[in-house]
Amino acid sequence: MQDCIFCKIANKEIPSNFVYEDEDCVAFNDLNPQAPTHILVIPKKHYASLNELDDVKIMGALLNAVKNVTKKLNITDYRTVVNTGKQAGQEVFHIHFHVLSGRPLNWPPG
Ligand code: AMP
Ligand code: ZN
Repeated sequence: MQDCIFCKIANKEIPSNFVYEDEDCVAFNDLNPQAPTHILVIPKKHYASLNELDDVKIMGALLNAVKNVTKKLNITDYRTVVNTGKQAGQEVFHIHFHVLSGRPLNWPPG
């Protein structure tokens, strides 16, 4: 796989404390949290963004992992964000679901 920081986290080349792991996905704390709880849920397999993700099993696995993370942490109120493309704020090109919680979250986000 190309030089991808999230691939390295997923395959444990870079040590990280997983909040959650299953067959297809892992979840870990965001390095630069934007809320008291800020977790990233990623597939173990590399897809650059939602545009490249073409496997419905992995799409389901990601949402299932988001739900399992929130259940595990007893979170009922949270925001799930998937930035797709540079103009939408994507900086790491390995698809990830942000899970944000623990403070009021404004809507619309701006
Ligand atoms: P995005 O802007 O949607 O691509 O989000 C990328 C997120 O990855 C940002 O919130 C970063 O803080 C986070 N991030 C970047 N590198 C790491 C890392 N090594 N470990 C955890 N989170 C990271
Ligand atoms: Zn990757």
